Amino acid sequence: MIHYSCDRCKRIINPEEELRYVVKLEVEAAMEPLDVDEFEDDRDHLTEVQEILERLEDSDSDLVSDDLYQRRRFDLCAECYRRFIKAPLGHDARVQFEFSQN
Ligand SMILES: [Zn+2]
Repeated sequence: MIHYSCDRCKRIINPEEELRYVVKLEVEAAMEPLDVDEFEDDRDHLTEVQEILERLEDSDSDLVSDDLYQRRRFDLCAECYRRFIKAPLGHDARVQFEFSQN
């Protein structure tokens, strides 16, 4: 039997007793579309992006692509899922200045 553990709190998740949430995270560097008209004065930049893309295609290793593209997968228990979905980017703390007095 496969045992899952929560990637956030490290607790063992028993799939028979509780829900397990799978978070699939895909991050890619956003490159502007290669519109030649807009980059007319910036040929070097164009070439640079092109080189990165070619390196990506050629590369067997993840060394180059880690900066540009990452796909991750996390298992979360129900409790951590609820916390995660409230603050996917990690803003756990409430924004304080809204409540501060002048
Ligand atoms: Zn958890």
